[in-house]
Amino acid sequence: MWSSARAWQDLLPSEVNLKRLIPLASLLLLSCSTPRLKDLPTSTAYDIAIRGGTIYDGSGGAPHTGDVAIIGDRIVAVGKFDGRAKVDIDATGKAVAPGFINMLSWANESLIADGRGLSDLKQGVTLEVMGEGSSMGPWNAEMIALETVRQGDIKYPITWTTLGGFLEALETRGIGPNVASMIGAETARTYVLGEGDVDPDPKQLGAMRRLVVQAMEEGALGVGTSLIYAPGSYAETDELVALASEAGRCGGLYVSHMRYESDRLLDGVDELIEISRRSGAPGEIWHLKAAGKNNWGKLDAAIARIEAARASGLRISANMYTYIAGSTGFDAAMPPWVQAGGREAWIARLKDPATRAKVIAEIRDPKAPYENLYRHAGAEGTTMVGFRTEALKPLTGRTLADYAKEKGVSPEDAMIDLVIADGSRVQVVYFLMSEDNVRRQTALPWMTFGSDAAALAPEGVFLKSSTHPRAYGNFARVLGKYVREEKALTLPEAVRRLAALPAHNLGLRDRGLIKAGYHADVVVFDPAMVGDHATYDSPRQYSTGVSEVVVNGVLSLRGGEPTGALGGKVVRGRGWKGWEDGGCRRSAKAWTW
Ligand SMILES: [Zn+2]
Repeated sequence: MWSSARAWQDLLPSEVNLKRLIPLASLLLLSCSTPRLKDLPTSTAYDIAIRGGTIYDGSGGAPHTGDVAIIGDRIVAVGKFDGRAKVDIDATGKAVAPGFINMLSWANESLIADGRGLSDLKQGVTLEVMGEGSSMGPWNAEMIALETVRQGDIKYPITWTTLGGFLEALETRGIGPNVASMIGAETARTYVLGEGDVDPDPKQLGAMRRLVVQAMEEGALGVGTSLIYAPGSYAETDELVALASEAGRCGGLYVSHMRYESDRLLDGVDELIEISRRSGAPGEIWHLKAAGKNNWGKLDAAIARIEAARASGLRISANMYTYIAGSTGFDAAMPPWVQAGGREAWIARLKDPATRAKVIAEIRDPKAPYENLYRHAGAEGTTMVGFRTEALKPLTGRTLADYAKEKGVSPEDAMIDLVIADGSRVQVVYFLMSEDNVRRQTALPWMTFGSDAAALAPEGVFLKSSTHPRAYGNFARVLGKYVREEKALTLPEAVRRLAALPAHNLGLRDRGLIKAGYHADVVVFDPAMVGDHATYDSPRQYSTGVSEVVVNGVLSLRGGEPTGALGGKVVRGRGWKGWEDGGCRRSAKAWTW
């Protein structure tokens, strides 16, 4: 049952839209000792009322039937009431849940091209968390020049230099979902050291630390690494501990695409746990997986290590995408040494016959000391989905094996030829995981979800390349395939891990729950119908079953169709200087986690 006095108290500690709420507050204070909303004068209207739905509030507990009322950008009441609303949504028979958080989003460029973020909006995503290893700032002049020439299908002028500047530019432009970002450790490294295989001296490391602090003060949620891609892969553990320490003392996380996810998966997990322990920052694993058939059995040991670390008091958590294939590039097939100095240097080296022969030998060598995802997928298990060059786009959707056979060359030769011809890493889908493991992972109580993809639409510039089905189906698949069909987890638990748990892990203020005083990020869906339709052969298919999405009180999806309204804002971490109690502290210990 809703209590107005209680709800108003809940609002007080937060930054609220006072202008909108003061009239309501005055009315509540003037009314009788146990005011009910139906007693309010009819002139008081909610902006949105979602009525009669089954409310999964994010706590993981049993749902209850009730109404959710929104004024401005906040939920103001949860319970049963009759007050008038400008917009009434009948949610009878449907689930009402806090908006879903995409823990690993690559919507950084797609939102510039199309701010609506439809492939995610149609699944109930209300927050895109970006910054897997590299981030859209801070960038110096040299980085801006390189980023500009390396742009793919989506071309855009770079008008910002800092990470905060990028996020604000997105908000100003107009976006459907909320956005947040880690600062990429690779980005801080490149800013100071360039893209070579070098280590920072103490002064350089100090400069990198300061870039992390600056981004955290601008609202970054932590520091992100992606340790299989050059130049991020050149960072050694001590360097990462230093940067994670800065993130931790600014109230943020250390999040990582680990150095190893296949043969040396356990070494990857150990390094992440060590970095979290030494830095004090909570550790989060991006897209946890056991890659390669020979490594599927290692998932148990990986889970055991994570759970042992958690039991020892460390905050270690993970997210995943709900598919057996990953998607990356041919850079994830080749040794890091050949990629030193950046993409142009990499391609120049591949043109040298002796270097080429050495690279091919290493790609084929199971003992080569780097993470080679291609070797685990094989040429048959490698589908090409994104080319930069118009002339190569007709190859989209073909396997590497098929193309190599047509050309009468080895798959490794074909791969190198394509990287040179395209002037890019070429985007590919690698089949790497087991369905059993994916299902088991969805059931883990500390597992959240991330698409590892852009937020797209089957139109415009997005038709120039293909994609992985996770871009259109990752979250609906949790609710349809894994909750309803396979019963790997319950619906209340799924909502907790799609919304409340990620919000908690990220240290977000007043998000992730259906609760009075919280930001009005709300999704309405039909649990009996929600599901994904995107496939590897035909990935550009929206999920269905989500009917309404509200972002910061803005109704963005209604009756399953986008309204065109863009309510997305920048969501900032605890170290943001704009908070009254923001800014960085002496150590991670000064924060409660
Ligand atoms: Zn990754």
